[in-house]
Amino acid sequence: MYLVGAGPGDPGLITVRGAEVLARADVVVYDRLSVASLLDLAPPGAERISVGKAPGRASRPQADINALLVERGKAGEEVVRLKGGDPFVFARGGEEAAALLAAGVPFEVVPGITSAVAVPAYAGLPVTYRGLASSFTIVTGQEGEAGVPVDWEAIARVGGTIAVLMGVAKREEIARRLMAGGLPPETPVAAVTWGTRPEQRTVRTTLGRLAATPVESPAVLLVGPVATLELPWYESRPLFGKRIIVTRAREQASGLVERLGELGAATVELPVIEIGEPADGGAALREAAGRVGDYDWVAFTSANAVARFFRALAEVGADTRALGGRRVAAIGPGTAEALAAAGVRADLVPERFVAESLLGAFPPGPGRVLLPRAAVARDALPAGLAGRGYAVDVVEAYRTVVGRPAPEALAAAGRADAVTFTSSSTVTNYLTVAGDLPVPPVVACIGPITAETARAAGLTVDVVAAEHTIDGLVDALVEAFGPDGRKTGERAG
Ligand code: SAH
Repeated sequence: MYLVGAGPGDPGLITVRGAEVLARADVVVYDRLSVASLLDLAPPGAERISVGKAPGRASRPQADINALLVERGKAGEEVVRLKGGDPFVFARGGEEAAALLAAGVPFEVVPGITSAVAVPAYAGLPVTYRGLASSFTIVTGQEGEAGVPVDWEAIARVGGTIAVLMGVAKREEIARRLMAGGLPPETPVAAVTWGTRPEQRTVRTTLGRLAATPVESPAVLLVGPVATLELPWYESRPLFGKRIIVTRAREQASGLVERLGELGAATVELPVIEIGEPADGGAALREAAGRVGDYDWVAFTSANAVARFFRALAEVGADTRALGGRRVAAIGPGTAEALAAAGVRADLVPERFVAESLLGAFPPGPGRVLLPRAAVARDALPAGLAGRGYAVDVVEAYRTVVGRPAPEALAAAGRADAVTFTSSSTVTNYLTVAGDLPVPPVVACIGPITAETARAAGLTVDVVAAEHTIDGLVDALVEAFGPDGRKTGERAG
């Protein structure tokens, strides 16, 4: 049994140990504030049990949660009890540990990054600062929850920084009592809601005005001189707060999701493409891989094709040496990277990353080319290669099917600021699965062909990447949303 701190929200803020134990969990018991992408760290087959309280609804009594943990722990399952922030900071992790100990269930505590420190940090507010604060106090606004009264007047006299958790609902009383304890009404306050998440919002006020200042929960209320500091870094990221739909297949989405996240965007993963086995179960690909020595060239037009080809090669008992003496072409840097990961350096990567330029980069034939790719792909490449004197074998390496995104993902997509398309099939499939949703204000395409497909389908394309790569697409989005961006709201046509 592991009592694991999940951190305050940003999935990157879980500890290495926390991620490790999640990755081999049989059962994850989590709270309402848990982040979906952290739950994704658990194996797909792991049982996920929510014990959280939604606002206004009764939560499971703590005794029931303790009993559940004891029962699962005794069954010998690997149980991860995931808690927001740190499990021992206003999270009743101590009581759960006591119950486990009493029942003889062995447990490990994996501390987490508490919101009391990390949420202010993401708002650019250090909880201590030379010359401003020589202490910080973490205090709950829900004395009832804590079961022990809070001496607010005494806390006021301690001075320094006061970080109030669970304090939004009682902020009027808290402010009044801190002032009664001697803090002046002009004492600075910063309220940081949904900290470390793309929805983060910081409101600055004073103790005197706190009651009348609208603040949404969950928030950390930071009281004291440090609340006037301004060291913005998170909220000033170029895509901060923008909700952007990623339509790529799940296997391919991570690079784009990561880059957008680093720039402050909230990503909605809507995998409208799923990658499946070819119709023949891969027989033709294995056959071609087995006699790859017959070819002069092997041309790859996607990282998927690379993965499938090398899998087929292994299945016929061969390895990269079978490519010895063959020349290898990649349509773009993503594909070339996938090749490099497999230990093969592409001989040919065109400057521009569309099928046409791959064709243009080929020397004049003759020669034999193996082209492992998706069943439905644009036909320009084999025909063009044939035109240059090559004999081309197109072999089905995988099949793309229309994905079925989860209802929550669709709901989130309906409120997005932008949608990204990385291939023509992402456009067509998106319209199939999300056609009823309002089109986000910004439609961004990786290149001209994808853009053409989108326009032909009646979409207004706002952004086309200058360089037809994921990085190029991200750069174009930053430009579009940036201070000089043309697309910050209204759109033409
Ligand atoms: N164990 C947690 C605290 C649980 S109490 C920790 O160490 O962080 C829940 C309170 O934590 C909320 O009411 C709020 O005050 C604060 N909190 C947790 N996550 C937060 C977030 N992402 N943004 C702002 N406040 C947060």
